[in-house]
Amino acid sequence: LLRVQGVGHRFGDGLWAVQDASFELYPGEVLAVVGESGSGKSTLLGCLAGRHTPTRGSVHYRSRDGRWVDVHAIGEAQRRLLARTEWGYVEQQASDGLRMSVSAGGNIGERLMGLGERHFGRLRAEACQWMTRVELDAARIDDLPREFSGGMRQRLQIARNLVTRPRLVLMDEPTSGLDVSVQARLLDLIRLLVARLHLSAIIVTHDLGVARLLAHRTVVMRRGHIVEHGLTDRVFDDPQHEYTQLLVSSVV
Ligand code: ATP
Ligand code: MG
Repeated sequence: LLRVQGVGHRFGDGLWAVQDASFELYPGEVLAVVGESGSGKSTLLGCLAGRHTPTRGSVHYRSRDGRWVDVHAIGEAQRRLLARTEWGYVEQQASDGLRMSVSAGGNIGERLMGLGERHFGRLRAEACQWMTRVELDAARIDDLPREFSGGMRQRLQIARNLVTRPRLVLMDEPTSGLDVSVQARLLDLIRLLVARLHLSAIIVTHDLGVARLLAHRTVVMRRGHIVEHGLTDRVFDDPQHEYTQLLVSSVV
């Protein structure tokens, strides 16, 4: 579904935030990207979604019609179309991924409007359904995001990003900054939705537990480099790189 080849990114003349990243994502697969703060996880995710233009390397995506497209060679308009119709992007901060001045229902519905749906009743019904799916009280459809708790806002952001039925979802630390019990419930929800909707996903996290719970394969990053990459169980049970060994041992 996604082929990442030799991607490197540097901000201006600064240091390389990501260097020589290569991996593939297969349809229906969940890949975790783990690593400590500043290791380049968000930058890499941004390169995949076309938010950052990689300084080096390429990202190819296999679109719904079966063609491989070079995410950075296609024009901005075409990339936006892909983002609207085939991708979801869940931000680390729910407030960055939501429109805070728009109601919960509006946040979900406007994504469908982006696909051309104009019928108010249908938009509202769909928004209601999605609130229920992410275990939010649909009676609060007219409330503003700020009236929701952090965990609920993250659920809302997930609904907003899944209502268009994307094939690929990128999530940047979807559970960080939440209470442990809220995190656990949110992870269960993500796991359920990914399975039910047959999503392919890349989940960035510094929490090894998140990777373990959700991901088939895991990529470990350190200072911009991918130091290890393999099946999640293998990476955690039998880490090859000393950095991964350190990460794993520091959790147990
Ligand atoms: P965190 O876990 O804290 O979110 P991360 O793994 O997502 O960290 P990045 O945000 O990708 O790390 O940052 C990687 C490196 O790139 C860091 O050294 C950071 O300071 C730098 N960086 C990130 N964004 C920018 C930017 N817009 N301009 C300049 N440097 C940046
Ligand atoms: Mg980050």
